[in-house]
Amino acid sequence: MRVGKMLHEVLRSLFQKPATNLYPAEKLDMPKNFRGKLFFHPEKCIGCKLCMKDCPSDAITINKVGEKQFEAVFDLSKCLYCAQCVDSCPKKALEATKDVELAQLDIKKLKVVFRANPESSDKNPA
Ligand code: SF4
Ligand code: SF4
Repeated sequence: MRVGKMLHEVLRSLFQKPATNLYPAEKLDMPKNFRGKLFFHPEKCIGCKLCMKDCPSDAITINKVGEKQFEAVFDLSKCLYCAQCVDSCPKKALEATKDVELAQLDIKKLKVVFRANPESSDKNPA
């Protein structure tokens, strides 16, 4: 490369906006309809288990925990984040959030239980 051309490239790069993001120092603004970590609305769930039947990776379990009360157990290590369960739910009890920060050193922490009981330490972990 000729010196003149190289100098031009150097000067151009000096005044250009960086092409990369400063993540994690700056949070990413995920696009609309992004499919991140799932959220469960237990008050809407009717226990039909359509989400379980349609999940391609067996990552969701719905358990009855009381009279018309259900909990959702997600295995986030199996989840494909396809949001098929969200589409299948007739009561809009499942939601795909924009949360992408799911990294864990302990794989057991990727199994999360969503339930309504406010006394539970596992209640809807946002
Ligand atoms: S997002 Fe897809 S893989 Fe994950 S629990 Fe729902 S249906 Fe299963
Ligand atoms: S499909 Fe919806 S209403 Fe049916 S069990 Fe799953 S979360 Fe509950």
